[in-house]
Amino acid sequence: MKIGFIGLGNMGGPMATNLAAAGHEVTGFDLTAPCPEGVTKADSAEAAAKGQQVVVTMLPNGAILRAVADQIIPVMDQGAVFLDCSTVDVDSARAVATQAEAAGVLGMDAPVSGGVGGAAAGTLTFMAGGSDAAFEIAKPLFDIMGQKAVHCGASGAGQAAKICNNMILGVTMIATCEAFALADKLGLDRAKMFDVVSTSSGYSWSMNAYCPAPGVGPQSPADNGYKPGFAAELMLKDLRLSQQAAESADADTPMGQLAAALYTTFVETEDGKGRDFSAMLPRFEKRGRG
Ligand code: NAD
Repeated sequence: MKIGFIGLGNMGGPMATNLAAAGHEVTGFDLTAPCPEGVTKADSAEAAAKGQQVVVTMLPNGAILRAVADQIIPVMDQGAVFLDCSTVDVDSARAVATQAEAAGVLGMDAPVSGGVGGAAAGTLTFMAGGSDAAFEIAKPLFDIMGQKAVHCGASGAGQAAKICNNMILGVTMIATCEAFALADKLGLDRAKMFDVVSTSSGYSWSMNAYCPAPGVGPQSPADNGYKPGFAAELMLKDLRLSQQAAESADADTPMGQLAAALYTTFVETEDGKGRDFSAMLPRFEKRGRG
């Protein structure tokens, strides 16, 4: 397939490499990041998008996605797929899909989970929103870049699935961390706490697969000085998107709102920036109720 790839950063770079390594003809563009091996460098977003069957974008946010969409949709072929894999707000995803549709281009939002490691290993999970026709064309590319792709529904459904999942993740991580800090103060051994909770009704991915306590449970960023992993500022981005969507849909999300507020404080006024999102545990350890 002839593929354009715009946004060759930490995630986009290895994703584009995997597409090229699988034999696709990939042309890439980024404002600053270097062009990865196997990918032909274009001088502009338009040049990367023109004449391609699929154009993948992997960009920082919705405003940048909208700007890039304005540049590339007019030069894209009728029937080509505009596949946005960035994590952006649901409203931007839907606006870009509508703009694409008006130009005869098939829009699809397909944010990912799996992080930089999953991008390099080709084991991402894609959450896709858009038409069946777009999903059929994109599916072989998802199979190269990832291990699972779920067609969640119409445009915006992929972003909706991603932020709902990550809102649960943010809330359960905080709950797990505060429970460990309480257990410490009650004199309960952390390994015993893990043994009980991981096999009882308090279990979750945060506890069982990504335990925030060092030396307890499976290997996780806690065992590596809380080096990310999944950085606290990326969790904050996703929690903010969840609250923006909740505002726009008039949904009551008190736990998500509180999680967003706690990660804001952690990242902006404490030492959370650049640390894994599970470093909420040492944060709670140091605090009392006051
Ligand atoms: P990044 O900052 O490393 O990469 C983004 C790239 O986009 C940068 O290289 C930047 O130069 C480029 N860019 C910005 N504006 C551009 C423009 N107008 N034209 C062309 N290129 C432009 O970020 P990343 O970690 O690769 O994340 C990309 C997306 O994936 C984000 O939406 C992020 O939320 C999402 N995501 C990241 C992770 C992760 O662990 N890093 C996990 C899941 C999802």
